[in-house]
Amino acid sequence: MARTYLGRAVYWTGIYLVDGLLVDSGPPNLAREVSRLVRELGVRQCVTTHHHEDHSGNHALLAGALHITPLAHASGLDRIARTEHHPPLYRRVAWGIRVPARVAPLDAWLETPRFRFQVIHTPGHAADHVALYEPQRRWLFSGDLYLAPKLRYLRADEDVHAMLDSLRRVLALEPQVLFCQHRGRVEHGAARLGQKLAFLLDLGERIRDLHGSGLREAEITRALPGSDLLWRIWTGGDFSKRNFVRSFLRPRGT
Ligand SMILES: [Zn+2]
Ligand SMILES: [Zn+2]
Repeated sequence: MARTYLGRAVYWTGIYLVDGLLVDSGPPNLAREVSRLVRELGVRQCVTTHHHEDHSGNHALLAGALHITPLAHASGLDRIARTEHHPPLYRRVAWGIRVPARVAPLDAWLETPRFRFQVIHTPGHAADHVALYEPQRRWLFSGDLYLAPKLRYLRADEDVHAMLDSLRRVLALEPQVLFCQHRGRVEHGAARLGQKLAFLLDLGERIRDLHGSGLREAEITRALPGSDLLWRIWTGGDFSKRNFVRSFLRPRGT
């Protein structure tokens, strides 16, 4: 789903329904469409992959319309329950402003009538990010952990070291199919995640080499391939290549 302007989608986001379980609730500016969908599709529970408003934007609506308390990682409960004042313009245009919602903490496993999902804490993109793994089918509901094998930019608040650990953790499970929130269904899950891990390790090595040879942050950014100009302008610098440099050079865990 996506908000459109003049017939063009601003930013695609997916939500999934599996056996009555809604994985994320979509952006707040699509509340009307989500409200109709969740009633028609018989949603019985909802899980949050992470607090970003394109993923948790209609949680309050679920509580009001269907008396469902969505679940989220314990570290995300406060963020989702809080009003965010003055989010940047690009987020208001693309997704709208989230209505605060009460959410409950996830356990280690999440059950539906037919499936059992292992809840895997996968910080990096966001500190409260989780992925859901169904071991029988080897499905991974990957939230924003995958997105693409090669990323062109990073958000300012992302932690690339945590992201690498999270990728290794889910790769060890050898998932077969990924259900990515922005890419849709992705086959050969483990191979795709492995490509992303290899890309990031290579990028990190280049950044550290350039830093070791005396280049400063801005110079290293310029030396990296590809242009992030449009994303940088659109997001006011929140998405940029420079964030990769900062995150890789930041000591682990800080
Ligand atoms: Zn996100
Ligand atoms: Zn997202």
